[in-house]
Amino acid sequence: ARKPQSAPQEKNIQVVVRCRPRNYNEKKSGSQSVVQCNSRKGELQVKQEVGDKTTTKTFTFDKVYGPDSRQIDVYRGVVEPLIEEVLMGYNCTVFAYGQTGTGKTFTMEGERSADGSLSWEEDPLAGVIPRSLHELFQKIEAQHVSEFSIRVSFLELYNEELFDLLSQVDETGTKLRIFEDSARKGSVVIHGLDEIQVHSKDEVYSILELGRARRQTAATLLNAQSSRSHSVFSVTVHIKENSIEGEELLKTGKLNLVDRCVGVRTSVGRGSSGQEGKRGRADQPELADSRSSHHFPRGESSPCPLSQVDEDPQGLAGGRTKTSIIATVSPAVCNIEETLSTLDYAHRAR
Ligand code: ADP
Ligand code: MG
Repeated sequence: ARKPQSAPQEKNIQVVVRCRPRNYNEKKSGSQSVVQCNSRKGELQVKQEVGDKTTTKTFTFDKVYGPDSRQIDVYRGVVEPLIEEVLMGYNCTVFAYGQTGTGKTFTMEGERSADGSLSWEEDPLAGVIPRSLHELFQKIEAQHVSEFSIRVSFLELYNEELFDLLSQVDETGTKLRIFEDSARKGSVVIHGLDEIQVHSKDEVYSILELGRARRQTAATLLNAQSSRSHSVFSVTVHIKENSIEGEELLKTGKLNLVDRCVGVRTSVGRGSSGQEGKRGRADQPELADSRSSHHFPRGESSPCPLSQVDEDPQGLAGGRTKTSIIATVSPAVCNIEETLSTLDYAHRAR
């Protein structure tokens, strides 16, 4: 007799990689591309020269997005499948992880095309956040729900301090207090985080703009570099439905969109310049400084959704939770160490 086969488990973690194009500085300094993406096979290869030997490391992921991939490709492949889950009342997290300058903010928030005439939802450069909100509104409005609300919060962590980027009471972004949750070990409660009700998809744009302005202010106040921050944009959806029998059904789903900077290692202080320099942004290449590391070792208490993702990537502890990790990397040889460490981390998360 054969052993009873366990039912096929639904996979609740997806890990993908996105490799951006080589940027201005990498091209100018002649830093060659060492990353080859094969989207069809979900494979990514890194060519590494040690001494006079060249070795190739191959990584397999659920999906691989190469330098030519578009925002909409990443959204459709990684985030869109989670929208249905959120509407059914489940919790989902999308988590961009990578070295500074590799495209986390580009992927999560996106940018606006230069001519500025396009709205967020029409703009090909719009990222995951505006696209998700747009689709949530679209899908809810197409269903026959009797009532719904969509609320968002946006918090940012700099050097162990939390800021509420959408605070209604404080223009600089209120500093928040974190408490360990005594009821749920390893989890924390954040006091005073404002949730803003979003009434239509058109409000998304001003919310993101507000978040950006606040982030800038907070960074200046702290004399911090925004490149060393983590941020969490959370969307909570409440839906009230009437069943055919006339019963009222209440559903609450949540989508966490996390921008998570890789911990800075002391041995590295070179070559990681993104395109920020070119654009004159506040984000500067990271300098070697062990204190700026935001790496949270397992078991150490740390701010909410970030540590939850780390400690329970499969969401096994908390019912049905789906997580997608987007690891972002640079193709250039000058960043190969960080690229390999990001790929190793992402690969282990599967
Ligand atoms: P991070 O948030 O990881 O520090 P950013 O999102 O700020 O990095 O990206 C750094 C720079 O690289 C930005 O100027 C951004 O426009 C550019 N960039 C990132 N990813 C891509 C991409 N996939 N295609 C084109 N440009 C990109
Ligand atoms: Mg960023």
